[in-house]
Amino acid sequence: MKYICTNCSYVYDESSGDEVEEIEAGTKIDSLDCCPVCLETDGFFQLKEEVIYLDENTVDKVELEHLPEINHDWISIEVTVWNNSHPMEKEHRILSIWLFDEYWDLVEEKFLWIDDDTVVVFDDYDLDEIEIRVRCSKHWIFGKKFELTY
Ligand SMILES: [Zn+2]
Ligand SMILES: [Zn+2]
Repeated sequence: MKYICTNCSYVYDESSGDEVEEIEAGTKIDSLDCCPVCLETDGFFQLKEEVIYLDENTVDKVELEHLPEINHDWISIEVTVWNNSHPMEKEHRILSIWLFDEYWDLVEEKFLWIDDDTVVVFDDYDLDEIEIRVRCSKHWIFGKKFELTY
């Protein structure tokens, strides 16, 4: 399983360990006394890899909180996560926002930090269809597809 440090966003994958930090593959998260990068002892949270797809008709409160909205013009795609109202605290925040193309290839990932606004701007890549994914530290990954018109 994969975990992320609550302090520095370092990602630790139990199956591969960490060669640089001399942690053997297969070492469980519980065996680490602290984050190998920032030495924070406060712990890690588990990264959930499952994607939950949303549409604009969702009424689920948790889903709504993670709903990406886009503002597209000729040169950029601005993404806002639901009125910029999601918590951005250490224990619960949006970690990153991804832009995928219509073939589900990752085009760009923008990382967010504690207290950041949940608004990012991607360049316009001349794509007709995109998928935006929002990764929350506490919930899952939320995905939404958009068609871009020019
Ligand atoms: Zn750390
Ligand atoms: Zn959340």
